[in-house]
Amino acid sequence: MREIETEVLIVGAGPAGISTSFFLSQKKIPHILIDKAVFPRDKICGDALSGKVVQELNRIDSNLIDEIEADKLNFIGSYGVKFVSPGGQAVDIPFKTDLSSLKNAPGYISPRINFDNFLVKKLVSGYSTFLENTSLENIVRNDDGIIAELLNHGDPISLKTKLVVSAEGERSKISRALGNYKQADKHFCAGVRAYYRNVKGLHEQNFIELHFLPEMLPGYLWIFPLPGGKANVGAGMLSSSVKKNNISLRKKLTDILEHHPRFKDRFSDATLEGQIKGWGLPLGSKRRKISGDNFILTGDAASLIDPFTGEGIGNAMVSGRLAAEKISEAVQEQRYDRNFLSGYDSKIYSELSAELKLSHTLQRLSSQAWLFNWVVKKAASNKEVSELITGMFEDLNIRAKLRQPGFYFKLFFNK
Ligand SMILES: Cc1cc2nc3c(=O)[nH]c(=O)nc-3n(C[C@H](O)[C@H](O)[C@H](O)COP(=O)(O)OP(=O)(O)OC[C@H]3O[C@@H](n4cnc5c(N)ncnc54)[C@H](O)[C@@H]3O)c2cc1C
Repeated sequence: MREIETEVLIVGAGPAGISTSFFLSQKKIPHILIDKAVFPRDKICGDALSGKVVQELNRIDSNLIDEIEADKLNFIGSYGVKFVSPGGQAVDIPFKTDLSSLKNAPGYISPRINFDNFLVKKLVSGYSTFLENTSLENIVRNDDGIIAELLNHGDPISLKTKLVVSAEGERSKISRALGNYKQADKHFCAGVRAYYRNVKGLHEQNFIELHFLPEMLPGYLWIFPLPGGKANVGAGMLSSSVKKNNISLRKKLTDILEHHPRFKDRFSDATLEGQIKGWGLPLGSKRRKISGDNFILTGDAASLIDPFTGEGIGNAMVSGRLAAEKISEAVQEQRYDRNFLSGYDSKIYSELSAELKLSHTLQRLSSQAWLFNWVVKKAASNKEVSELITGMFEDLNIRAKLRQPGFYFKLFFNK
């Protein structure tokens, strides 16, 4: 069997792994990045790239957004969000109030097959060795570090490393083998995604649509416009509710699109491209241990998805950046033990936990259909309230404003 050695191994070249790799290269730290897939590869997702993703891309290289803005074949700029309450009341919330000052769109939508491939092509060779068609099959820890058994184009490799970064996504082998991960249905969301052509009534500024339906709470049905006249249409719902109510999300989605009065005309000429596919979303509503002796977990492998919106790409990229910072210190100090690496956990949760906690509260409140109806009605009928919510998006740290008591005061007392 071939044997290789590297100080740092990253498993998975999605947003978390790519981001870790970019920042390690910036710090001139050589590493190996592997992915079992051959790119371009599909990833089941809503394909929405939030303001946080734009911010992280700018941290990697400010030219990336210019390229994305110019690439109309693969990326579409989105300027806001349409919320539809369980009672059917809709409100359009632009991401920005003043469009004239914008250099680029505040958010984008891009099929992940294209977005992830765009990022992979930007990998900085020299410090990063990228091996596609290379899967992690097994992993063990010993006194010297980690031994990873890989299959590279079908051939076995034994790789020795001091530190492994799991960026393998939801089905991470490393978080199960080394991190003791167990799925909890209250902190996990089931999701299905479909691509459609010819959906009617998409917003002219490509607003993403979130439809909160009474039979699908907590969770929502989404319609996100894509380049080339297509749309990403899907549904996500908390796994504990899916199991309790014995729901098939695939069937639910097609039933609603065919028969629900709000959707049936919009989908009467629509054609489904490919199949409706499902994948899980590990939510960040529970704090977990995300590092240990010789390993760090990032992105979905660390369960960092926003429990209210279902966004995970931005947090995956944030975790990649913070992982690279910790790895740089570890390489300098030659410390790969759990005590040293736990500084990564602290950094992640000091940056994300307030936001994740608040989103968890919003997720639980959203099950109260009456409250949701009331807030959306208020925003739809009152310009100040809708501008207040736009302000939250403009802040980028969307939910920061929600932590301020003044927000609730304004919401309640605006007529
Ligand atoms: C239905 C659905 C809709 C979603 N919608 C959105 C959305 O609109 N916006 C948003 O921000 N987030 C969304 N998310 C969440 C988002 O998809 C994830 O949070 C994000 O992809 C996490 O990135 P990651 O890099 O951690 O993992 P991934 O993107 O899953 O990448 C993991 C990579 O690891 C590789 N890999 C896995 N196992 C191995 C192995 N053993 N060996 C080698 N390689 C391996 C895979 O091939 C893959 O390339 C959605 C998720 C779902 C399921």
